[in-house]
Amino acid sequence: MKKIKIVLIALAILSMGGLAAAAETATPNVLLNPDKPGPGDIVIITVTGVTGPVEGKFGDKKLYFIPAKDSFTAVLGVDLFTEPGTYMLHIAASDKVLSNSVTVVQKKYPVQRLTLPKDMVELSPENEARADREQKKVAAIWPNETERIWNGNFINPREGEISTRFGLRRIINGITKNPHSGVDVAADEGQEVYAPNYGTVTLVDDQFFSGNSVILDHGQGIYTMFFHLSKVLVKEGQQVKKGDVIAHVGSTGRSTGAHLHWGVRVQGARVDPLLLIKLKLE
Ligand SMILES: [Zn+2]
Repeated sequence: MKKIKIVLIALAILSMGGLAAAAETATPNVLLNPDKPGPGDIVIITVTGVTGPVEGKFGDKKLYFIPAKDSFTAVLGVDLFTEPGTYMLHIAASDKVLSNSVTVVQKKYPVQRLTLPKDMVELSPENEARADREQKKVAAIWPNETERIWNGNFINPREGEISTRFGLRRIINGITKNPHSGVDVAADEGQEVYAPNYGTVTLVDDQFFSGNSVILDHGQGIYTMFFHLSKVLVKEGQQVKKGDVIAHVGSTGRSTGAHLHWGVRVQGARVDPLLLIKLKLE
């Protein structure tokens, strides 16, 4: 009996050694899609030939790797304001450390020049202070680390024609404004807005620029936001399911007519929402 046990243990050790050797021979590989992103793009990073768990960083931004069959994938956001250049990508698996780089290339976004009456452009000191406070409140949301809630593909929150694209640079009365960091969907007042994925309602607020606003936290640094709403149907802290009606389209805040402005942040990076809903995610 004792002999059999020893043989079994020896066999087990041999087979473990065999497995370890197989893992070592696999060449670690990092694949970026797209391989040369531009500012505002979303990149899927796929790591193969390593043993998990896998951790990663892009600059100071944490990457969240999800295990798949033979690989690990992470969603990386390249902020709209990123200067073209080469950026370090640091990936650490339990058995290997892989240093890689991401080349961010130039991406041309359209420019729109507008001349507007002064009173439409200049804010009163009160409104400026309010807008500033609200901007700080929103900016404090992105660094929070939360568990993954999203599951599978992100869906379109509101079908419709895109009236203002992501990244449009506006020059109003000769002054360059912040680029458009979301998309405007042409829609009628009262039309439904759907949650693009599972998430937690992290902000419901009435803000100077964005009017009635909702921000959803989908976990792992992915947030979606919806502005100028006529009616909000959710409360802060509430869990939503993919496809739930969260609000109605409106024209609240600084808006000239009913439309849905929606935006996406990935680890704080402003990215094109239309790219998020095109991703094929597990
Ligand atoms: Zn907009």
